[in-house]
Amino acid sequence: MPPRKNDDYMEVASDDSLPSDVDEVYNGKSKGKGKGKATERKTREKGKSKNNEQPYAWEASYVRSWDTVQEDEAGSLQGAVEDLIARNRRRRLLAPSTAIRRTIIRHLVLVLDLSSSMMDRDMRPTRFDLMLEYARSFISEWFDQNPLGQIGIVGMRSGIAERIGEMSGNPQDVLKTISERHKLEPAGDPSLQNAVEMARGSMSHLPTHSSREIIIIFGSLTTVDPGNIHDTLDACVKDRIRIAVVALAAEMKICRDLCDKTGGSFGVALNDGHFKDLLFELIPPPAQRAVSRAAGAGAGTSNPTADLMMMGFPTRLPNTSAPALCVCHSDLKSEGFLCPRCSAKLCDVPTDCDICGLMIVSSPHLARSYHHLFPVKPYSAVVDGAKVSPSNACTGCSSSFSKSSASSTITDGVSPFGRYKCPDCKNDFCTDCDVFVHDVVHCCPGCGK
Ligand SMILES: [Zn+2]
Ligand SMILES: [Zn+2]
Ligand SMILES: [Zn+2]
Ligand SMILES: [Zn+2]
Repeated sequence: MPPRKNDDYMEVASDDSLPSDVDEVYNGKSKGKGKGKATERKTREKGKSKNNEQPYAWEASYVRSWDTVQEDEAGSLQGAVEDLIARNRRRRLLAPSTAIRRTIIRHLVLVLDLSSSMMDRDMRPTRFDLMLEYARSFISEWFDQNPLGQIGIVGMRSGIAERIGEMSGNPQDVLKTISERHKLEPAGDPSLQNAVEMARGSMSHLPTHSSREIIIIFGSLTTVDPGNIHDTLDACVKDRIRIAVVALAAEMKICRDLCDKTGGSFGVALNDGHFKDLLFELIPPPAQRAVSRAAGAGAGTSNPTADLMMMGFPTRLPNTSAPALCVCHSDLKSEGFLCPRCSAKLCDVPTDCDICGLMIVSSPHLARSYHHLFPVKPYSAVVDGAKVSPSNACTGCSSSFSKSSASSTITDGVSPFGRYKCPDCKNDFCTDCDVFVHDVVHCCPGCGK
């Protein structure tokens, strides 16, 4: 373990305040490990004021959801909606806009806590139901942004780990494994060690160019382990597996250690909205760190420049071709893809060829994975009336901007004119186009970057 991280941990521990630590995570600053202490303190203070409004779900009294949405004098919900947009914008501005090296071929094991503590009702309707709901949207979104990735699912209940879904690159297959709620009914105690060992085992065969990640959603405050979990942790560090934990109850030292030593992030969910934020922050591919490569020097991959890898672009068979057996399911069907190396018939791409092991991708998948490496720069909100550019229509959709400022209250990150300017091409875009460009298109229509 690098000494730097140790210091981090000591600082947090001596502070003797769990909530402030959580706040750091809440503000999305927890990953900036290289930051100076002054910045950290500032974040913490900022977080404290936020904490007054954001109690833990188990501390809060009964919340009527219709009270949290505030109408303005005119009875409109515009203000509430703008607040949501502003929150998303702020989060996007935190993300680095420069190109950094990231892993685009990802392998993830999602570990779900299915222990009896998941039946707690501090998150509505229960932690378990909320976890399933978020896990489903997480998986869809994850595959959308990481089309070359694969997800496996492991559950923890009754002191053992259960393999709920095999590692698969097909979102439908993965979603099907957690679609039947009655098969996942929570029971008994969770076992972190068993689950991590099972996840590690299912990723041991992976090549070095792909990332190995474990995300644990953990609702319990105990773990029932057959052996020393620290040995498992050391094995994960050696295998360069990154573990991230989203805790629903409180911070446990072993969870924090799992994340800190493997380079993952740790967060305690304050309430259901924050739970979703924490989980969805894990969707963009992690930056590839020099440290992790040095740590895995035993694997003989100390090449700092680039690893070349072999990929195959398959031939698509039309519906009218003669039916043949596929190698993945042994089903007789006409449509499918042919492996360019061994001509085996496959049902779906992307996948690894079952016969020759070649990675089969289609070029749109590859292109879609690319945008993480070269993200669109965040647009800046136009707040100064004097600097509004003469154009009065959005460059993206040609809808005209309103002449006067729409809202008198200027929220952080929201333009009162509804204009957002690209820092490169200086064109103005409306709110909807801003969101669409950054979340869906991943390319600025003004400058093509
Ligand atoms: Zn098949
Ligand atoms: Zn093949
Ligand atoms: Zn527009
Ligand atoms: Zn532009």
